[in-house]
Amino acid sequence: MSTTRPAPRTARTAQPTSDRDQPFAARRERLARLLTRAEAGPVAAVFASGHEARRNGDVDYEFRQPSTFYYLTGFEEPDAVALLRPGHAQPYVLFVRPHDPQMAIWVGERAGVEGAVRDFGATVAYPIEELEQRLPELLGGMRTVYFSFGADDRVEKLVTTAVAQRRGGGQRGGVAIERVADPFPYVSQMRVIKTAEEIAALRKAISITGDGIDAAMRATRPGMHEYELQAVLEAEYRRRGAPRNGFPSIVAAGANSCTLHYTANNSLVGKDDLVLLDTGAEVDYYGADVSRTYPTNGRFTAAQRDVYAIVLEAQRQAIALVRPGVRFMDVHQRALKVLVDGLRHLGVLQGTTAKLTKDGAYQPYFMHGTSHWLGLDVHDVGAYREDGESVVLRPGMVLTVEPGLYIAPDAKAPRQLRGIGVRIEDDILVTRTGHDNLSGHIPSAIDELEAIVRG
Ligand code: MG
Repeated sequence: MSTTRPAPRTARTAQPTSDRDQPFAARRERLARLLTRAEAGPVAAVFASGHEARRNGDVDYEFRQPSTFYYLTGFEEPDAVALLRPGHAQPYVLFVRPHDPQMAIWVGERAGVEGAVRDFGATVAYPIEELEQRLPELLGGMRTVYFSFGADDRVEKLVTTAVAQRRGGGQRGGVAIERVADPFPYVSQMRVIKTAEEIAALRKAISITGDGIDAAMRATRPGMHEYELQAVLEAEYRRRGAPRNGFPSIVAAGANSCTLHYTANNSLVGKDDLVLLDTGAEVDYYGADVSRTYPTNGRFTAAQRDVYAIVLEAQRQAIALVRPGVRFMDVHQRALKVLVDGLRHLGVLQGTTAKLTKDGAYQPYFMHGTSHWLGLDVHDVGAYREDGESVVLRPGMVLTVEPGLYIAPDAKAPRQLRGIGVRIEDDILVTRTGHDNLSGHIPSAIDELEAIVRG
């Protein structure tokens, strides 16, 4: 969109760190230490924010900052670039959209270069329009530049150009950029271990999610559309202070529960259906991820109850394993064993659990992993394997434990089981001595669910 007056072109330089910026400043310092330790010469790291994306006509999708950019900057506006230069006199440079009086009238104030320094801890800030011109000079003397290829086309091109120019300069006695390396493994290693304030945000998101699930369960009536239930769920999130979800809510009634990432949410809820909710409110960018499955009419059928009890037991045993030193994969293996035993018991599979597991015979009914990391992203960053081995759980990690069984309407299974999909998901913090089920207060026992739906 066009503007009528030129934005201020002046850079702004640093004040002391604002309270707001404190946790972000601590992360930038920690990352700077990790990156400096990994390299012999001077290093810089470049991170790009997200951009607005067109939805239709002149309407954009709701903007949410990509998680790593937010994690390091706390800056929520699009079209920004952060440059870290550990050990430099100006170690933190932000490029941002400048203050624009015309845009302020239409869409609100921007932080601008003044706000970037005053509130977001930049030692110096420039208008984003000056990125092309200034980046080569700001990378002067750096031997290693950390940048994630594929993250942002414009910044990627600038980094590539800077590398090429400096290579030419190197022949005339200048310092070449010898390495462009991905900062992702370092950021990921930081993000997978949550601090106390991150856990507090997750707890709040999970608590709000529990209230939303409770409200949706109580509001469930046969003949509703799934999206009406979604509205009840998410109205409670908003009412309780979560401005958005961590991901689109899954509200799946009847056989829709067999579709893992069902988000159409436009079917009618039948009177004998199970409803599967897989959902999470987001608070301060941290999102919950909780699944509950319950009967529409407040009473599980015998077949629904049989399937549900197996998934619940798989989840109970898997969660019980979680503590420091246990391998991530062991949590999955435990859930899987209970599920395969259960499928045999139900008459869906025949054979020994060991052979059925080895052959993957369970996969038509349980086709996803039991766990993923949780944090700023619902499927949060963090390695699952290192050097070919499963990662070992450490205090501060947060993982979901979410076994499920999905018996599709056309499955080769006893007729009464077909169309039943059950997933039960909780968010588990690894503590020093074991674990804390952050969503354990949200009911999942059969009699509790029946009582809530019946009101
Ligand atoms: Mg999940």
